[in-house]
Amino acid sequence: MMHDVIIAGGSYAGMAAALQLLRAHKTVLVIDAGERRNRFADLSHGFLGQDGVAAAEIASTARKQLMAYPTLTWVEGRAVGIRGEKDDFTVTTAGGQAHHGRRVLLATGVADQLPDIAGLAERWGKSVHHCPYCHGYELDRGKIGVIGTGPMSIHQAEIVSEWGDVTFFLNGAVELDADARRRLQDRKVRIDPALISRIEGSAEVVLADARTLVFAGLFTAPHCKPASPIAERAGCALEETLIGIQIRTDEAKQTSIAGIFACGDVARAPHSVTLAVADGAWAGAQIHRSLIWPEQ
Ligand code: FAD
Ligand code: MG
Repeated sequence: MMHDVIIAGGSYAGMAAALQLLRAHKTVLVIDAGERRNRFADLSHGFLGQDGVAAAEIASTARKQLMAYPTLTWVEGRAVGIRGEKDDFTVTTAGGQAHHGRRVLLATGVADQLPDIAGLAERWGKSVHHCPYCHGYELDRGKIGVIGTGPMSIHQAEIVSEWGDVTFFLNGAVELDADARRRLQDRKVRIDPALISRIEGSAEVVLADARTLVFAGLFTAPHCKPASPIAERAGCALEETLIGIQIRTDEAKQTSIAGIFACGDVARAPHSVTLAVADGAWAGAQIHRSLIWPEQ
C-alpha cells in the first residue's frame, strides 16, 4: 500500500501533523518508538488547557482521538532507513518491515546529552530541569542551582534568576569574561567555581571541596541532538543551533531532500510541547499542500 504520508515519531509534533492530514482524508502511517523526550517527568506545564496534566496523558488522549480516523495506521517500532524519492519513498523499520509513502515526515525528537555527574541522570525531569517556564514556578522562588555545561549556561543562570535565588556552578565547563560576570552580578547570581562531585537527596550538590549545598531544584542546559540517526542517514542537511543539532528545514518544514519534512524539537528551537504541536500542525498543512501542488 502507498500511504500519502509516513510519519516517523508519534509524539506531540508527529500527532499534531497527523491530525491535520487525517482531517484532510489523507492516508497516514505513524511509526513510533514510544520514547517521548519528557518521559522522565510526571507532569507537563505551560501547554494551554493542559497545564499540570501528566505528559503521558496528554499524549495518550491525543492518540485515542487520532485512532478514531479510519485512514490512520499506527505501527509501534523504530524507522531506520528511508530510500526512494518524492512520491515513492520506502521507510524501513528495525523489525525489517518496509512501508511505502508519497511524503515522509520526521518528528523523531531530540535526545539530551546530560553532564556526566554522579546522581544527575536519575534526577532528570524530577529535581533537575532545563526549562524554567516548564518547571520553575513549582520551586516557589526558593534556592536554585544552575549546573554549567557551556556558554548557554550563562544565559540559563541569568534567566533562571527570575524564578529564585541562583547559585551558578561553573564546574570547569564555563568560562566567564568580565561582561558575563557583570551581567550575572546584576541578576544577583552567586558564582561558584568549584567542581561538583555528585548530586544527592532531592537536589543537594556535593562539591569536590566537601561542601554540600541544598537547593529547591537544579537546572542544567544539555546539548541536544536528533534522537534518531535516520535524517542524517537519509542525507538530510543538519544545522547547529545554540542548544544543539537539528534538521534544517525551509518555511514549509521541508528538509534539504524534496518530499522529506521534519518538525518538532528535531527541527526547531527552542523546545516545548506547545511549540512542537504548533510546528506539527503547520508541517501537516504544508505537506497537504505539497500533495495538492507538488510543483510548488
Ligand atoms: P518527542 O516528544 O521527543 O517525541 C519524539 C517521538 O519520536 C518519540 O515517541 C520517539 O520514541 C519517536 N522516535 C524517535 N526516533 C524514532 C524513529 N527512528 N522511528 C520511530 N519513532 C521514533 N515541554 C513543555 O512544554 N512542558 C513541560 O513541562 C516539559 N517538560 C519537560 C521535561 C523534560 C524532562 C524534558 C526533557 C522535556 C520537557 N519538555 C516540556 C519539552 C518537551 O518534552 C518537548 O518539547 C516535546 O516532547 C517535543 O515533542 P516532539 O514530538 O517534537 O518530540
Ligand atoms: Mg512527535
